[in-house]
Amino acid sequence: MLGITNRRQFLLQAPLAAAALLPGAKVFAAPALDANSVRRLASNVSGRVITPQMPDYESSRQVFNRAFERYPALIVRCVVASDVARSLAFAQSNNLQVAVRGGGHSRLGYGVCDGGIVIDLSAMKRVEVDAGKRTARAEAGALVRDLDEATQRFGLATTSGGCPTVGIAGLTLGGGEGRLMDKYGAACDNLLSAQVITVDGRQVEASADSNGELFWAIRGGGGNFGVVTALEYQLHPVTDVLSGSLIYPTGRIPELLEAFARFLAAAPDEMDALAQVLPSDSGRRLRMDLCYCGNLQTGRDLVRPLRALGPENDTLRVVSYLEAQAAGGFLQAPVAHFQTNLFLRELGGAETAAIATAVNGAPASCKLVIVPLRGAISRVRVDATAFALRQPGYEVDVAGVWSTPAEKAQVVRWVRDTRDRLWPFAHGVYVNQLGDTSEKLVKLAYGPNYARLVEIKRKYDPRNVLRLNQNIPVA
Ligand SMILES: Cc1cc2nc3c(=O)[nH]c(=O)nc-3n(C[C@H](O)[C@H](O)[C@H](O)COP(=O)(O)OP(=O)(O)OC[C@H]3O[C@@H](n4cnc5c(N)ncnc54)[C@H](O)[C@@H]3O)c2cc1C
Repeated sequence: MLGITNRRQFLLQAPLAAAALLPGAKVFAAPALDANSVRRLASNVSGRVITPQMPDYESSRQVFNRAFERYPALIVRCVVASDVARSLAFAQSNNLQVAVRGGGHSRLGYGVCDGGIVIDLSAMKRVEVDAGKRTARAEAGALVRDLDEATQRFGLATTSGGCPTVGIAGLTLGGGEGRLMDKYGAACDNLLSAQVITVDGRQVEASADSNGELFWAIRGGGGNFGVVTALEYQLHPVTDVLSGSLIYPTGRIPELLEAFARFLAAAPDEMDALAQVLPSDSGRRLRMDLCYCGNLQTGRDLVRPLRALGPENDTLRVVSYLEAQAAGGFLQAPVAHFQTNLFLRELGGAETAAIATAVNGAPASCKLVIVPLRGAISRVRVDATAFALRQPGYEVDVAGVWSTPAEKAQVVRWVRDTRDRLWPFAHGVYVNQLGDTSEKLVKLAYGPNYARLVEIKRKYDPRNVLRLNQNIPVA
């Protein structure tokens, strides 16, 4: 570890400074920074450079998953693309780890790092809609709700996440699942182009006509290849939807899950649905969340078989798409949590029995969410984009939250045990919903696309500057 050698360096030894400011904070190795070079960076960017001594450092370093308390040396709150290029250059010349942050919802807290630099895009939120062309151009710090609100002014929308505060860049770069994916594909399937700052500071466009390999890679391959500053999406007409949930009495998990699978097998693409196995005082219960974006009477007719199964709570009604989206976040506020996922081809007897067994005795703060992948998202060829979850099936998200170390231990154990129990049925994982990582998981996520991603990584980021992510290593 480099010591504190003079006052200027002391002021910029973020980890030590942070440890001094925050009782119990971790002390760790980090390169000392020269104060003059930081001042130069601050005067060269249009945005702000936030250091540990500043009053908003504490709130600025925090990310959604409070399991990750990390102390960066610098946070650069970018406002233009050139700020990103300058931050990347600064990081490389000072040998700093780079964290890239949009909405800050990474399950692994990748939007912040210890002792490095955070390239924070959260102030770049502008969304412009071309209603005539049905396209939207969004800056990379826009959240799901920013994109939805801007596009809904014109009765348009594109697939965005189910949680309003997720960042659209992180969402789209990893694939992007949401209420419109059965009808219109993943968020990445609706990406028309992106502006990317490469690690050597170039600003390039990635689209079907320009840097095609990069365009292929950023549609699912995550933040491995460059820092995206803007994204252009295809939009679709979406107005009112039939949306809400059906909550069934406790027990009956296998029977209800099999009915859910049968319902979806016959449902049109306009029907989006997911199932949650939730805790309650009297045991585990199943909740189905539905959103139908077609003819509303047809939607009502379609959900009759699910209503006939006897939900004790039924909130399905016609709402605006924005209301449906606003109701959707599973975690409403930042909280320490651990979530992981796996992908099942089927929801048959063996799988539903394993799920029912797994949820027995689960801690009260844990749940399991089953997200069907079907319709348009599953009709895209597996090699058309880096996002490889194209076979029809079910993503199972296993998650829990905690507020004390004892709860954490219980939650983490249950999430891991549940994943192990379901693993024999698994055929893939979704990088955006992984609360852990390994080479094996990343390879599994990309399947046949992995080797091509490694080649593109080698071209665009040969020194693996952008490695705080579900990393594609440079072979
Ligand atoms: C409560 C909650 C709900 C969620 N719901 C959904 C959902 O409905 N559907 C779904 O598909 N996923 C969902 N996710 C997962 C989510 O898609 C990922 O966590 C995603 O990475 C979050 O993006 P972010 O910008 O908010 O996060 P950040 O932490 O800011 O970014 C995550 C990572 O994405 C990369 N990244 C972000 N911005 C850029 C950029 N501009 N350029 C290059 N790389 C970048 C970086 O590697 C970064 O570390 C949810 C997550 C949470 C916590």
